[in-house]
Amino acid sequence: TEEVLRNTEKLVFSGQLAMSIAHEIRNPLTTVKGMLQLSHKNSQLQHYDLIMSEVERMNLIVGEFLILGKPQAVQCKAERCGAILQEVVSIFEFQARMNNITINREIRQDYEIECDRNQIKQVFLNLLRNAMEAIPFGGEIEIVLEVQEGFQVVSFTDNGEGMSPEVLQKIGEPFHTTRFNGNGLGMMIVKRIVSSHRGQVGITSKLGEGTVVEICLPLA
Ligand code: ADP
Repeated sequence: TEEVLRNTEKLVFSGQLAMSIAHEIRNPLTTVKGMLQLSHKNSQLQHYDLIMSEVERMNLIVGEFLILGKPQAVQCKAERCGAILQEVVSIFEFQARMNNITINREIRQDYEIECDRNQIKQVFLNLLRNAMEAIPFGGEIEIVLEVQEGFQVVSFTDNGEGMSPEVLQKIGEPFHTTRFNGNGLGMMIVKRIVSSHRGQVGITSKLGEGTVVEICLPLA
């Protein structure tokens, strides 16, 4: 047990270290980005787009990391998932049209849950983004809202590329990604937020056929 304790301490320490590094990197990154934009405005910089997109990528990784480490100061209110979902879907509407993806919603039941609106928005955002990324050449995403045994269930079904059992098994582990531009933090954040709401995440997937991700959140 002493060794377990020592290992836990080490883990906590490395977590805190990573968090403070992420934090310290974010500020100079903001300066770099600002200066880059300014210099580009004054005189066109060579390779500006590439440099900028890489800076953005660093920003995203650091940002997601900070969300992960933040002690969950959950601000709960009674909310309905349908309205939150609406906001998220509209963010992706243009991108979906460009990629020949239709996003269908079926609202069977939409009851109130106690939740932190921003966090649930983050969950829907990550899941919809994953579904979009799984469909490279057009396809369908179906989102269903229903109530089952005291839980609001929100399911995201896509007919994209699906996952092998190996990928599926590791989903939610930090930095586990198969995407060129991915960081493998999205599903970890999803699981964290849902469990802090006393909910559950279920995933079924078949390579070449598609994926269903189901989120269950306790009703208010
Ligand atoms: P990222 O999207 O940055 O890779 P995630 O944690 O969101 O990080 O996802 C981890 C991995 O899980 C992805 O790289 C992908 O391989 C797989 N994955 C997640 N959602 C889906 C999906 N809807 N269809 C197919 N694969 C998925």
